[in-house]
Amino acid sequence: MIILMYHNFYRHKGHGDVLGITLSEFSDQLCWMQDQGFCFIKPADSVEVNDKSVLVTIDDGLKSSLRALDIAGNLSVPTLSFLISKQLDGSDDDYISAGDIDSTPDGSYYASHSHVHVLHEDLSRWGRDLECSYQVVSSLPRSLPHHLAWPWGYWYPQLREIARNAGFEHQYGAYPGALREMTSGLIMPRIRIDGDKSGDFKSALLYWTSGNSSVETKLRLFANTCKGFKRGYLNITKSQ
Ligand SMILES: [Zn+2]
Repeated sequence: MIILMYHNFYRHKGHGDVLGITLSEFSDQLCWMQDQGFCFIKPADSVEVNDKSVLVTIDDGLKSSLRALDIAGNLSVPTLSFLISKQLDGSDDDYISAGDIDSTPDGSYYASHSHVHVLHEDLSRWGRDLECSYQVVSSLPRSLPHHLAWPWGYWYPQLREIARNAGFEHQYGAYPGALREMTSGLIMPRIRIDGDKSGDFKSALLYWTSGNSSVETKLRLFANTCKGFKRGYLNITKSQ
């Protein structure tokens, strides 16, 4: 199984944000996966998966993702959106508000991406942030309150425990890899799809679903090539 991680969506090419792709690219990718026999899974606490299973996740809850949710809905592709729960109050036009969620397709599910998307300095602040986010997300329609995507892909062992105490049994990271089953207590790898990589989307998909990849090897490769997530990776190695 692979978990895809999207962020931002645009109507047209030409935006500088490397975390975004166009809506037509998104639509093309979903259609291509359907043609290739990939099976889109509905997110749940427990699902049976195989090498061809794909879960579509979208981070940050940006307003632009509402159009992507409609595209996915029209293609009967379930999605899991990780929301920055504080933004649900509607005070920032760039983000989905709680009211927006009512009119999203039936296959749109929601989970937490922390309350404020800040890397807190101390553990007690993390605890309060995550407890608050759990509460807010639990009250949404089609919510999966036990699921958390770490902001910036960042976590370390004590944080993982704090998140579990706050109710998050399924935690998602931001390093690439395939997953054999959805198991609680694991930081689940995800394949980031963005403006840099959408060009080789098909080869990336086939690469990660070929069944011969070791998550650990890929983690090391990734840490060497991607500065942005190096800190999270170093914290992972420290625990071993
Ligand atoms: Zn994020």
